[in-house]
Amino acid sequence: MTSDEIPPVTGATKVLAILGRPIEHALSPLIHNAALRSAKSDTIFIPFSPTEADLEMCLRGLVAGGCAGLCITIPYKTAVVPLVDHLDASAVATGAVNTVAVDQDLQLTGYNTDVDGVLLCYRSLPAKPRKRGLLLGAGGAARAAVAAIARTDIEHLTIVNRTISKAETVKDDFADADLTIDTAEFQDQEIRQLCADADLLVNTTSVGMYPKGDAMPVPPEVMHPGLDVIDAIYRPQPTRLCQEAINAGASALAGVDWIIGQGVAAMKYWTGLDADEAAMRKAITEFLGRQ
Ligand code: NAP
Repeated sequence: MTSDEIPPVTGATKVLAILGRPIEHALSPLIHNAALRSAKSDTIFIPFSPTEADLEMCLRGLVAGGCAGLCITIPYKTAVVPLVDHLDASAVATGAVNTVAVDQDLQLTGYNTDVDGVLLCYRSLPAKPRKRGLLLGAGGAARAAVAAIARTDIEHLTIVNRTISKAETVKDDFADADLTIDTAEFQDQEIRQLCADADLLVNTTSVGMYPKGDAMPVPPEVMHPGLDVIDAIYRPQPTRLCQEAINAGASALAGVDWIIGQGVAAMKYWTGLDADEAAMRKAITEFLGRQ
């Protein structure tokens, strides 16, 4: 990076922050600083790593000091829910907050922009009618996926999880969603039939994540041209699941698109800016390429 690309930090510079622990591997500082540089905004985005005991003090201290907005990451996405003044519908639906916006009166609103990330991926897939979805996983990312899928034309969703009781809990928590949900176990024959019937596969398990990038959450031979894929995993790029989907003639979007989508939505809530997606993508792709 050349020195003229680095905005000078002055007394007028605004601050955005991310809270998580550990924080060293977070990708949000990369994408948000890239978007802020592209917009020539006099704002920097910096990481903080409070202990759980100090989370509230850190959040309130940053806001009192003028922090214009915050990103919340693992393990604090649920711990921060009771610390904000208002919850957006996305945070209520998922029970988790990954974005905190600060208004003029220092009132805090919590959002879950992972929902926007999934929606951005869905809308980037070729437009065609899709009725049946298959969701792998039942953790935090899965909840964001269910909230997003409920806002698409998908009518029926099957949640498959290694621990079936967690899938049942997600199903119960989304009982009011505009979606028929059922659950299934990771059993080979059932997975094959579910994949054959589905129009969309969303992977929110960590299967296929670096360094086990060759692993697949479903057998590769179940991929077919009608089964488009959204994969939460961002490393390796592309994931094997996405590559197998593309090889089978389907479309696929991976975790990088999801990260960019959640970041674009967060930037809008914090600053009103339409973030430069291409700058975000370049920053994250170059960074992951160096790993
Ligand atoms: P989480 O709450 O810990 O959930 C992990 C999920 O993966 C659970 O459903 C778990 O099943 C399943 N799982 C883990 N190992 C498995 C295995 N060997 N076989 C089958 N299932 C397995 O984590 P999360 O926050 O939902 O995140 C899940 C993944 O999504 C991570 O890789 C994370 O990096 C990624 N993610 C990406 C983005 C993005 O912006 N791209 C955003 C959020 C998350 P059990 O319930 O049985 O343990």
